[in-house]
Amino acid sequence: MSKWGFTAIKTNQSDLDLVDHGLIATIGNLEPSIFWCIGCGSCSATCTSAQFNNFNPRRIIHAIRSGHVKYITDEVDKCLLCGKCQMVCPRHVNTRNIILNVKQITGQNAI
Ligand code: SF4
Ligand code: SF4
Repeated sequence: MSKWGFTAIKTNQSDLDLVDHGLIATIGNLEPSIFWCIGCGSCSATCTSAQFNNFNPRRIIHAIRSGHVKYITDEVDKCLLCGKCQMVCPRHVNTRNIILNVKQITGQNAI
């Protein structure tokens, strides 16, 4: 661990051959509040699931908007659909509904 208690994050490069913007086109129509996200991280800090498995709703929203579908399908099943993230969002992003729609579109169990 570094002297300061934190380290530099790994680089996060996008392979444009793997990017798919079809999901954001669909989700953006179903739940336009996804475009209001400012990436503050309040949802991730509050997420019920995160304390058990590092689930990160802020990263899910970013991944949807940037077309990283593999990350989304690998992670989205961890969401418990409890809705806490939505209650703390300063931008009133309906994170729960976004994830619910993603689960339904990707064929994962919504309930
Ligand atoms: S709390 Fe709202 S604005 Fe902040 S990262 Fe989550 S969805 Fe985005
Ligand atoms: S609805 Fe999902 S992302 Fe939001 S706080 Fe609950 S478990 Fe976390």
